[in-house]
Amino acid sequence: MKAAVFHGAKDIRVEQIAEPGDLGPGDVRLKPHYCGICGTDLHEYAMGPIVIPSKPHALNGSVLPQVLGHEFSAEILEVGSQVKDLAVGDRVSVMPLLFCGNCYYCRRGLNHLCQSMACVGLSFQWGGIAEQAVVPATHVNKLHDNMSMRAGALVEPTAVAAYGVDRAGVRPGDTVLITGAGPIGALASIYAEHLGAQVFVSEINPHRQKMIESLGIATLLDPSKTDVVEEIKAATGGIGVDQVIECSGNERALQTALSAVRKHGTISQTGLHTKPAAIDPMILSEHDISLIGTWCYPVTDWPRIIDLIGRVGLPVEKVVTKDIDIEDIVNDGFETLLSPTGDQVKVLIKS
Ligand SMILES: [Zn+2]
Ligand SMILES: [Zn+2]
Repeated sequence: MKAAVFHGAKDIRVEQIAEPGDLGPGDVRLKPHYCGICGTDLHEYAMGPIVIPSKPHALNGSVLPQVLGHEFSAEILEVGSQVKDLAVGDRVSVMPLLFCGNCYYCRRGLNHLCQSMACVGLSFQWGGIAEQAVVPATHVNKLHDNMSMRAGALVEPTAVAAYGVDRAGVRPGDTVLITGAGPIGALASIYAEHLGAQVFVSEINPHRQKMIESLGIATLLDPSKTDVVEEIKAATGGIGVDQVIECSGNERALQTALSAVRKHGTISQTGLHTKPAAIDPMILSEHDISLIGTWCYPVTDWPRIIDLIGRVGLPVEKVVTKDIDIEDIVNDGFETLLSPTGDQVKVLIKS
């Protein structure tokens, strides 16, 4: 079968590999339909392997080369002998985190922090950018009838964004600043607005600005043209926002967050920083601020996110700027997304 396989930094090959063999009793065989390229994938491509194991992974023995893709929707081709409640032809979204079920964190329901966590498409035999994948049935969730397969590929990044917003404790009537309008920032804006918050988004890239403007749900602030902290203060009676969701992984954005949040407010660090950032911790103290980190999402969040998209109509598909074929994954996917002047927000690979 055809698959996008990571061999090393700047070395992703679309190649023929063997199809998955016979199913285990609790597994399902999938035909992926749409799969997103994520920031983690970009980090692997630019400077990896980081998360992708170069020696056998403790949980499942997976190792380079790695079939990519962890944000995907699929159709069920076959179910294992013990699988109930799923059938051939079902349209599903895969919750990609794999966990041991037995460590300190798993025993406390914090499976996303499992001490030997692995992930489909990063540290697992199969991934979503391929003609087939085999995963445990426990990790697939049926899509709502009103939901497209494209939207099914956005459940994973929406879960990341929702967790960042939820951890900050956003409530109806709150004011929220979201720094960075990449896919996670854009989805966090949609989710926070849906919760009933007044949303501000700071973003410097004109293509991403345009996408936020087209959503019509947030006040856009351009840090290259305006003082974001001053604008936020002006809009909030000099007080500052209740929460900041930092989605850019950028040092200046984190500094802006500290100055733009009100006293006793909360900053949720949802974007990933790739190097240390300098902040003034005295602001944290004087302003009684909570600065919290977030990692992935609760592994049980798929049914809720699927319901939000399918039944409630969260317009997550609007963050997709391009669908591409697997053959174009390097040039139109990875290279375009890594380019600082790139005009794409979310790219999906259709198979
Ligand atoms: Zn991801
Ligand atoms: Zn565990």
